[in-house]
Amino acid sequence: MSFLSQTLDRVKPSPTVAVTQLAAELKAAGRDVIGLGAGEPDFDTPDNIKAAAIAAIEAGKTKYTAPDGILELKQAICAKFKRENELDYAPQQISVSTGGKQVLYNALMATLNPGDEVIIPAPYWVSYPDMVRLGGGEPVIVTGERQLGYKITPDALEAAITPKTKWLIFNSPSNPTGAGYSRDELKALTEVLMRHEHVWVMSDDMYEHLAYDGFEFTTPAQIEPRLYDRTLTVNGVSKAYAMTGWRIGYAGGPEHLIAAMRKIQGQSTTNPCSISQWAAVEALNGPQGFLAERAQAFLRRRNLVVAGLNACTGITCETPEGAFYVYPSVADCMGKTSAGGAAIDSDEAFCKALLEEEGVAVVFGAAFGLSPNFRVSYATSDEALSEACTRIARFCDGLS
Ligand code: PLP
Repeated sequence: MSFLSQTLDRVKPSPTVAVTQLAAELKAAGRDVIGLGAGEPDFDTPDNIKAAAIAAIEAGKTKYTAPDGILELKQAICAKFKRENELDYAPQQISVSTGGKQVLYNALMATLNPGDEVIIPAPYWVSYPDMVRLGGGEPVIVTGERQLGYKITPDALEAAITPKTKWLIFNSPSNPTGAGYSRDELKALTEVLMRHEHVWVMSDDMYEHLAYDGFEFTTPAQIEPRLYDRTLTVNGVSKAYAMTGWRIGYAGGPEHLIAAMRKIQGQSTTNPCSISQWAAVEALNGPQGFLAERAQAFLRRRNLVVAGLNACTGITCETPEGAFYVYPSVADCMGKTSAGGAAIDSDEAFCKALLEEEGVAVVFGAAFGLSPNFRVSYATSDEALSEACTRIARFCDGLS
């Protein structure tokens, strides 16, 4: 019998690792590689947030904390939910974890039983299906419509719901497409959920502050207050405040769910880093003006990349509402051969050849559950993005 847990058989190794590894190998070999794979802002954490962390260290706030967060941070989170999302949560309804990822993980671990189904719209963030499987549940994939910017329709959601459905994981703006659901689109989905009382919503709002062209961000419990008692509203400081390495994510939800998540966290990581929690207090309570400034920079880059990609033969790129990703289709490149002789029979083959022949690292669509596409993260300099588009165009011109 294998020494390793059978649970591991249910989980795939991260498909993004292969691309990242190949890119690192090429870089180490001295190749000029432009990395458009990373899912994190290239900006630095703002100085006031760093200063708060330094002050916390100097004040000796370096010990264990309450398992799911210090009261000061929970209060800052309650104020944020009220200010930005019109949601009323009390501190005992808040859970703080080591990144948004652990919040989602705790929630799934706390609720899933074998055979429970979790609806995941595709394309999806790579971790959702595997987290569901680790929790013993079954991911049920609902594919978004390309003409809707890869968003799902209410009919498709309705058709996916069964008596075993426990959660819908909702992510807007989305990783990997950047698609954001309008108020009306979200309302239409919440109407479906109102017809199925046993289905809960896990709303992953990590990209809330990265929205463009006047897109109005909304979240399910705000749009449909009757869903409040079966919604977990997840957010974090990683993307908005350029704090990916600090590892602070949080959620608001029904007290009994938050207590269950606390139990899991108390027996795994004990508590999120004390210093990072104090930094997050400053992130949420401090000046917010830079969020709009940074969103402006991302908007400029999004426009640059969408235009650059649409100018490439065989690539079609939607203009998404938010996040820092675009998800172009390479359907018209399938069946061709690259200038370097690679058969382009999948998005994985396209991305591998693009990296080897032109030194541009992007993540293939199969990793996110919808092909043939690839994901570009435009959280990098305008110069790097322009050069990457030039190289991608040359690669596409070389396909025959
Ligand atoms: N949710 C989505 C959609 C993400 O893209 C990410 C990070 O890439 C996370 C959650 C996790 O965020 P964190 O770094 O706070 O764990």
